Amino acid sequence: MSAKLIDGKAIAQAVRGEVATEIESWCAAGGPRPGLATVLVGNDPASAVYVGGKQRACAEVGIEGFAHDLPADASQAEVEQLLGELNEDDRVSGILLQLPTPPHIDGSYLTTLIDAGKDVDGLTLVSAGLLAKGLSGLRPCTPAGVVELLRRHEVVLEGAEAVIVGRSDLVGKPLAALLLAENATVTVCHSRTRDLGAVCRRADVLIAAVGRPRMIAGDWIKPGATVIDVGINRTDEGLVGDVDFDAAAQVAGLITPVPGGVGPMTIAMLLRNTLSAARAAHPAVAPA
Ligand code: NAP
Repeated sequence: MSAKLIDGKAIAQAVRGEVATEIESWCAAGGPRPGLATVLVGNDPASAVYVGGKQRACAEVGIEGFAHDLPADASQAEVEQLLGELNEDDRVSGILLQLPTPPHIDGSYLTTLIDAGKDVDGLTLVSAGLLAKGLSGLRPCTPAGVVELLRRHEVVLEGAEAVIVGRSDLVGKPLAALLLAENATVTVCHSRTRDLGAVCRRADVLIAAVGRPRMIAGDWIKPGATVIDVGINRTDEGLVGDVDFDAAAQVAGLITPVPGGVGPMTIAMLLRNTLSAARAAHPAVAPA
């Protein structure tokens, strides 16, 4: 392997440490303790694990957690009412509705009800609009985590050819806007892209967010490129990314592993967003 590894676990830990320190000085300056409300509907085991992880991470950095676990037969109206109450609750800086919701609940509609100032997942229409317009706002956690990894490794984005494979609302599209804001030349690929290999080979920074195990081949990588693998695929051999890591690592300059790359950054950026939301809600507080 010739590529240098991007250690997402270590960088996420550093971000969490910084958030914890900033929260203490914010509270010392009279700021109210940031709070994160999680809303989980039903008992999907994977969702319960994710929400539990987010609540534990909050406790570690000094964010107050408000866990709302509703039964699988909770009605749409009940969830709507809860979100309305959380929008009004001053102790709650951020609200996270865990997706997917059970089939009888319209999760994407419910997301639109979250106050944009508390939208720590960055997924409401207002947050998406602010990002598209280049205005300040809360950014989706996984794409923000990717940019943070690049920043910490001082990857030059200005003028760089950035290729993103995947155009989801969760990852690909917001990441394109974030990289554009960093003055990269951004290409977004998807399932109808012709000659994907040739497009990827142009990339100084290649980001895979597809959900197909090892789809990005080693000979699609430009020598020395930075390769960020957002994919998380459960296979018989365990968790693998969207990039053929062993082959790509022979060619790339920098590369993320799976697991231990982008994954840990998502929660770290959620914590950072929760602090940012608390700060924005109380602009008069000025920590030393
Ligand atoms: P998604 O909503 O399923 O989107 C997948 C995208 O990949 C779509 O835009 C799709 O194109 C494109 N695609 C599918 N097959 C393709 C092909 N053969 N060639 C080119 N493009 C193709 O997925 P997502 O939510 O963005 O997630 C992507 C991956 O990231 C998944 O593995 C997910 O588990 C992982 N993920 C990780 C984190 C994390 O914290 N690390 C967070 C979120 C997601 P079309 O639009 O044309 O269908």
